[in-house]
Amino acid sequence: MSAVLQGKTVVITAGPTYEDLDPVRFLGNRSSGRMGFAVAQAAADAGADTVLVAGPCQQECPTVTKRIDVRSALQMRDQVMQHIEGCDIFIGCAAVADYRPAEISDKKIKKDGGDLTLRLVQNPDILAEVAALPDRPFTVGFAAETNDIVKHAQRKLRKKNLHMIAANHVGEGRGFDCSDNALLLLYPDGRQHPLPSQAKCSLACRLVDEIAAEYTRLQQLT
Ligand code: C5P
Repeated sequence: MSAVLQGKTVVITAGPTYEDLDPVRFLGNRSSGRMGFAVAQAAADAGADTVLVAGPCQQECPTVTKRIDVRSALQMRDQVMQHIEGCDIFIGCAAVADYRPAEISDKKIKKDGGDLTLRLVQNPDILAEVAALPDRPFTVGFAAETNDIVKHAQRKLRKKNLHMIAANHVGEGRGFDCSDNALLLLYPDGRQHPLPSQAKCSLACRLVDEIAAEYTRLQQLT
């Protein structure tokens, strides 16, 4: 792979987040982290100084500059914000939990014979916060959708004010926790660029090439 990101700094989130309920239980999701780790490896192979902020997952560590392990969305946001200054490109691959329990019990929650209602509060949107920074990096998001992927991804691209969004199908054996993936890249000016189904590591290299090309194109316009 050519050094298309030589001299650039990239921050990437990957994996799920776990939102604790009590010392033994949490709310999580089925993200394996595989795509985010592959993107981190591809960015590092492209010459970038790469910081990976990873939720709990079992992937082999890519050869990045720095890997930071976190558990919850709040921890992920803290670490991203600590490393975002001066960063050229931010890629949000993590499946961040949208909600967390309003309280974490310090003792195991006991059943009392009846139903249990949990109150959940919204987590910060890390990607949108990065994209709203005054000196925002080139910001790339992912949209994992079960249906109407173009419509939902375009809405996210606009709402979160991103430079690029990588949309993909999830569910029915696609997307999460499998080795292949396909992406549709969408840009704010309406361009669409499909990356066909392939192993996540080769897809990640194609994605990083596209990110580098678009980043360079925008730099040349300014
Ligand atoms: O809105 P939705 O969760 O579908 O958006 C997905 C994109 O936003 C992904 O890039 C994900 O990493 C990012 N995200 C985030 N923080 C959240 C929720 C999503 O960074 N709380």
